[in-house]
Amino acid sequence: MQVLLIPVTPFQQNCSLLIDEATGRAAVCDPGGDLDRIEAQLKKQDVTLEKILLTHGHLDHCAGAAELARRHGVPIEGPHVEERFWLDQLAEQTQRFGFGHATPFEPDRWLDDGDTVRFGNETLEVRHCPGHTPGHVIFFSPSARLALVGDVLFAGSIGRTDFPRGDHAALLRSIRTRLWPLGDDVTFVPGHGPVSTFGQERRTNPFVGDHIESPA
Ligand SMILES: [Zn+2]
Ligand SMILES: [Zn+2]
Repeated sequence: MQVLLIPVTPFQQNCSLLIDEATGRAAVCDPGGDLDRIEAQLKKQDVTLEKILLTHGHLDHCAGAAELARRHGVPIEGPHVEERFWLDQLAEQTQRFGFGHATPFEPDRWLDDGDTVRFGNETLEVRHCPGHTPGHVIFFSPSARLALVGDVLFAGSIGRTDFPRGDHAALLRSIRTRLWPLGDDVTFVPGHGPVSTFGQERRTNPFVGDHIESPA
C-alpha cells in the first residue's frame, strides 16, 4: 500500500491518499477540503477512488467528504456513531471558520472498534479511540505497519480535549490501550504535522510517554 499526504484546509490537515498498487484502487482518508488538490493527485497517480474514510467529525477532516463522494459515486465509512453530533454541526462550523458551504451528510457506514474496512485488495483495521471527540476512530494497516490516527496523537503531542464531550483521561486510555498494542514499529500519520512511530512517542512524548505516571 502506498500513502501520499495531501495537506488540506487552512488547518493544514493531513488528508491521506491510500493506494493499492496491485489494483490501482484508492481510498481517501479525511478530505477536509481543497478537493482540487485531492482530485489532482488522483489523476496524477492514475487511480480509481473507491472509498472515503473519516476519522472524526471536525470540519478540517470531513468538510469535503460529501462533495467528493458525490463526484465519484463512492461511499463514506466512519467515524463512530458517537460522532453524529459533530457532523450535525458541520454547516454551522464551516460557516464560522470560513470554509464555504459544506453539504450535511451521514456516512454510509458508521464504524466500531474491531471493524475492518476494505478497498482494492487492502484491509484496514478500525479502533475506536474516544477522547479528542467521542466517536473518533483510527485506521491501521497490519501489512504496511501504518496507522492513520487523526487528532488522537501527534509527534510530540496529543489531541485537544477542550471541546464539548472531549475527555482527557479517555484520550490517554485510548492511546495506551488501543494504539500502543499495535506495536512500537508502527508509523503513524497524525491529522496535523509530521509522521512518527508509536515507539518514538512512548519514549519521548511529554503527554503520554511511558515515563509519565498514569493513575491506576
Ligand atoms: Zn479534530
Ligand atoms: Zn484536525
